[in-house]
Amino acid sequence: MGKHRARGILILALVLFVVGVSAARFAPESPTGLEVYPSASLTRRTWLSQYNPALKGTAGDTPVLVFEGALPGGTMLVLGGTHADEPAGAAAALVIAENVSPEQGRLIVIPYANASGFSHTLPQEGHPSHYTLDTPGGPRRIPFGSRLTNPVHQWPDPTVYIEKVQRQKLAGTESRNLNRAYPGEENGSLTAKVAYAITRLIVDEGVDVAVDLHESSPEYPVNNAIVAHDRAMDLAAIAAVELEYAGVSINIEPSPVNLRGLSHREWGDNTDTLAVLLESPNPSQGRLRGTTDERLVVEGIDPMYLKASLRGRLYVPYTEEGAPLAMRVGRHVASVEALAWSHTMLSPDRGIVLGGLPTYSELLENGVGAYLKPSR
Ligand SMILES: [Zn+2]
Repeated sequence: MGKHRARGILILALVLFVVGVSAARFAPESPTGLEVYPSASLTRRTWLSQYNPALKGTAGDTPVLVFEGALPGGTMLVLGGTHADEPAGAAAALVIAENVSPEQGRLIVIPYANASGFSHTLPQEGHPSHYTLDTPGGPRRIPFGSRLTNPVHQWPDPTVYIEKVQRQKLAGTESRNLNRAYPGEENGSLTAKVAYAITRLIVDEGVDVAVDLHESSPEYPVNNAIVAHDRAMDLAAIAAVELEYAGVSINIEPSPVNLRGLSHREWGDNTDTLAVLLESPNPSQGRLRGTTDERLVVEGIDPMYLKASLRGRLYVPYTEEGAPLAMRVGRHVASVEALAWSHTMLSPDRGIVLGGLPTYSELLENGVGAYLKPSR
């Protein structure tokens, strides 16, 4: 018996050792690889935990960058990476943060809104964990993740997720979806804490216009779109006209009143900000796609999507040229600039003039990497 017990204890100790080592590998204590090299207009660099101290030291904490122009004006918030498998969101936020030179007002950028989402990919999607862009100074590795918070950071999921505003019932995994967690809870789940901090930031910083950058699959009807809260419809309409001049056709979708927990709904209902969400078409996210690799993420070319397009099954234009990241980032950057311009037209005393950003055609021509710094 004694011999067996000793062997049992030895095996148990070995198992615990192996589990411990691998757990440390899979559950980083703080976010890593969330690179951003802000432009010279940066006036303050902080962390999201400033707006909810319960996030400090957790995998949900993430960089917040504040840029300020010489002229006083309004404040705009741009969020990338709410869903880490919608790469144009974070990439556009990075292009904005690394190039912006505001002339009037303030710009706050959070490139990786759900930091935990960048630490894993969804099972069975075959997504890469990173993709690499060529910049003038060398390669830049950008993390690619999941639309949900990493389960090693928030576990277990409830059987049914009941969102807090109207107690709507959603699948349990949606408890890890940042865009179903607003307005958030100060001491709730990790995802709810992140949502609370962002809502708090909007209030504390007096954000006039808040923009959440997303993507959706090319077969999804809400695409190439500005989804606008009721109070932000005029803002979106003027921006859409401005975008047409730049060669960017965009739809305006009203934020559905009964869809709760989403940024464009809860920011608009719970704060004074004008809330919008942008969608661009992402073939690496859709159900029709074939080989899913870095190339699909960056070039956006997939033969199945071309077939579907020829049969009229897509909601967006799709040709042999695909839906490259440069086009999708170009749409987002141009839309952010157009929304700032529109707000300046509507509320000149709270004007926001963003200089230094590449235009839609410049991004199409030169690619996203031309406007980013290399990884260090
Ligand atoms: Zn999304």
